[in-house]
Amino acid sequence: MEELSCADWIILDTKLTASGFSVPVIPDIIKQAIDEDLVARCRKKIAAEIQDKFIDCQQQHLQHNSATLKKNEAICQVSESTHIEPDKEGFWEVCHYSVLPHWLQDNDFLLNGHRPPLRSFKLCFNSLFRIHTETVNIWSHLIGAFMFACTAFSFLATERLELAEYVAFAAFFLGVFTCFFISTLYHTMHCHSMEVSQVFSRLDYCGIVSIIAGCFTPWIHYLFWCSPMSKIVYMAVAYSLCVLTVNLTMWEKFGQSQFRVLRASIFTGLGLSCSIFPGTHFVLIHGLYAAFVDLAFGWLFTMFAVAMFGVALYAMRVPERFMPGKFDVWCHSHQFFHVAVIVGAYVHLHCLCQMARFRHGDGELCPSDYDRFMLF
Ligand SMILES: [Zn+2]
Repeated sequence: MEELSCADWIILDTKLTASGFSVPVIPDIIKQAIDEDLVARCRKKIAAEIQDKFIDCQQQHLQHNSATLKKNEAICQVSESTHIEPDKEGFWEVCHYSVLPHWLQDNDFLLNGHRPPLRSFKLCFNSLFRIHTETVNIWSHLIGAFMFACTAFSFLATERLELAEYVAFAAFFLGVFTCFFISTLYHTMHCHSMEVSQVFSRLDYCGIVSIIAGCFTPWIHYLFWCSPMSKIVYMAVAYSLCVLTVNLTMWEKFGQSQFRVLRASIFTGLGLSCSIFPGTHFVLIHGLYAAFVDLAFGWLFTMFAVAMFGVALYAMRVPERFMPGKFDVWCHSHQFFHVAVIVGAYVHLHCLCQMARFRHGDGELCPSDYDRFMLF
């Protein structure tokens, strides 16, 4: 048989490789037909050629990859820096939901008017004076915090109360103010960066727990005015539930947009459980008349109705879900939720004042036959 040259071998090898054979599995019939030395030498040559080709190919592949990578990076930079990030002078423009980083994407029914990641506390603060999706959220709770601070000072300065009542009302005002103030900070700062947003969103949840704790403290105080043991037990249970909820909010994924309904349910559950058990206890002992006429349960229900209305809009993202893009800046669900919380807090203050009036206006405090069954 005619001897094969190295060039022939390379052609043969290429054909064999193309048809599924690799160099080490050259069919025996071909191997036997040629000189063993030649096979060995050519194999080395083939191997070297293949190696070179492989390296070439790899380099080409790498070059292609890095070119693609650079191109992608350039696209990323264009979308992140040129289009949505602030420039060197700190100027930025509101942007579309789709170009936001994932940690700023919360409500996909709000299409335009979003703040980009600002990465500066100063720029975040300055955004208070710009129109965007968070403007009303920030200002509603900033004004709410200011209103409650003024109400607290005038109320505590003018009302004549016992020391325990002062403490209970101070807890209420402090809880409400803390919630509104932290909420203002959260809505102002959460476009800073993912890390800052996570810290402030957790603080915001603690603020919600603080308003719930602040609301039930004076309410349980007046409800069990003459039953210190019941008061201590219900307050201990309610505060424990608050601590539990705060722990739950520290869960990494708690703030993610897909858990919106779960969040709303947990905070509603906390508010209800802090009042349903002591309220039912009171009704079972004193009846509905005493609950509604003497201790203003009607106003408590009104407060819950207002708060639940706001929470329901927040959880269902109404009205923006029906007309995405139409409520980006004004009148979206989170704004109604904020207003509902402020109105609910004032309704609750009215409820507490009614309860205080009854407890003080009844002449003799804690008559011997009143509330006696409420002691454990
Ligand atoms: Zn909010």
